[in-house]
Amino acid sequence: MMDAGGHSELQALLGAYALGAVEGAERVAIEAHLEGCAPCRRELAQLREAAGTLPTAPRPPDELWRRIVDEVRVFEQEEREHGGEGEFQPD
Ligand SMILES: [Zn+2]
Repeated sequence: MMDAGGHSELQALLGAYALGAVEGAERVAIEAHLEGCAPCRRELAQLREAAGTLPTAPRPPDELWRRIVDEVRVFEQEEREHGGEGEFQPD
């Protein structure tokens, strides 16, 4: 078998892979492994199914997430300072 070593390592990444959160060399390695590993393909299918039932999208990386949170906070603050009225009236 050509499965020595990589199998359990890749299984640890399958969850992230199912969410589309694995990039580059790791992604290539996972896809290469999936080609020849039916148990991993089955597990991936189950993970994808589970991921599809989640109510929210996967969280972005911390740095990006913080930036988004900051922007929302600034936006909300500006809204408050401007009174929050008359700005989004659809006529
Ligand atoms: Zn495998």
